[in-house]
Amino acid sequence: AQYANALVALGVKPGDRVALQVEKSLEAVFAYLGTVRAGAVFLPLNTAYTPAEIGYFLGDAEPVLFACDPAQAGTLAPVAREAGVRHLLTLDGEGRGSLAKAADAAAETFADVPRGSDDLAALLYTSGTTGRSKGAMLTHGNLASNAQALADIWRFSPDDVLIHALPIFHTHGLFVAINVTLVAGASMVFLPKFDPELILTLLARATVLMGVPTFYTRLLKSPGLTPEACAHMRLFIAGSAPLLAETHREWKAKTGHAILERYGMTETGMITSNPYEGERRAGTVGFPLPEVSVRVADPENGRELIAGAIGMIEVKGPNVFKGYWRMPEKTASEFRDGWFVTGDLGLIDERGYVHIVGRGKDLVITGGYNVYPKEIESEIDALDGVVESAVIGLPHADFGEGVTAVVVARSDAGLDEKAVIGALEGRLARYKLPKRVIFVDDLPRNTMGKVQKNILREQYKGMYGA
Ligand code: AMP
Repeated sequence: AQYANALVALGVKPGDRVALQVEKSLEAVFAYLGTVRAGAVFLPLNTAYTPAEIGYFLGDAEPVLFACDPAQAGTLAPVAREAGVRHLLTLDGEGRGSLAKAADAAAETFADVPRGSDDLAALLYTSGTTGRSKGAMLTHGNLASNAQALADIWRFSPDDVLIHALPIFHTHGLFVAINVTLVAGASMVFLPKFDPELILTLLARATVLMGVPTFYTRLLKSPGLTPEACAHMRLFIAGSAPLLAETHREWKAKTGHAILERYGMTETGMITSNPYEGERRAGTVGFPLPEVSVRVADPENGRELIAGAIGMIEVKGPNVFKGYWRMPEKTASEFRDGWFVTGDLGLIDERGYVHIVGRGKDLVITGGYNVYPKEIESEIDALDGVVESAVIGLPHADFGEGVTAVVVARSDAGLDEKAVIGALEGRLARYKLPKRVIFVDDLPRNTMGKVQKNILREQYKGMYGA
């Protein structure tokens, strides 16, 4: 209420945007809630964005107010001024700054500005690996329906204690984690960042963990991860990037818990989830949420495909966003007959579980054949000594694209290019075999744990001299 009052006092009106690029703090969560209570639109920005990138977002979204870290205020003041932002305030990782001061001085009650389910609550920019990042317009209806659906299917209750170690500028940490906790009247242990050792000590008083797959692979490295350490826990949830089936199995073996994997995106909130009761199938993202419809369609003509066939995942429901901010044409082009085209390729198996095989733009087309990177990655990952892999297509004079594997191997594995290709021969059709195998120490990942194939494609683009 104090944040809502402070924003209104600064002239924030219903529908105005309120932008924040701040470290994680509870006060930042108050700023989010104050913004929506005041009827305004919350715009969180990744802390990794540079001043030039911030300039683009401020210019595009035209917020009335922008809050940043006090240490950045000197650099960002001219950027905000240039974009026409009326108020620049500050908030640091401890929740201190001019925004917090304004809120502290404000009254403690606030009458919510009435909003309809179609009114905007937030503007979240997509990570934008192709072209300019787009602002996804999310409504009160989108957020409320998703939070309620997830709280129901994941059986949240006021007794739950969620370990919150995700960033809060992204849909996962901001909406899935926080809104579900709030709607259920549950509690959170709110951590500034992911720290595996600290999380292990918190498991004894928490009930749920939500994480990106890297949380789980890193926790698995700790000897402290035992069934006893997890005895108080009710649920482990993963999403935002694919969880390896191997991680799922190892986690089960070490803790007795089957990780529940779900799937979603900025534009749609959560789309599918493995079941709370019933089999949580490794390598799948489960079933559509209540009231959400998912279909797999032919990417070319939009015809719905039969069970088991790979195609474009499309979605419809109260979770689907209102469109891209000030991009009506882009918005129109991403919908087909009322279905939102996710850009993810996948299939629905005969039991109704949705499987993701990768981003459409990651599909490799070599000599006219479609190669789904995930199929090759799964084969490579199964080889002794391989930690993980990413398969990409690189410009190739003969084939259009050459299948290329980027592999992280254990140092004692003694693997080389020939050994990897040799092991795949006979297991995969010839056209699917990597033409080259590159060994690296780590795959490039963004903060949400997604492998950044665009960086790999850029780095190795001259490989075949095309
Ligand atoms: P973002 O908008 O940043 O949340 O990214 C959304 C994208 O992340 C989706 O379109 C998927 O490509 C990917 N993603 C999210 N959850 C999963 C999952 N469980 N398995 C595989 N990919 C996922």
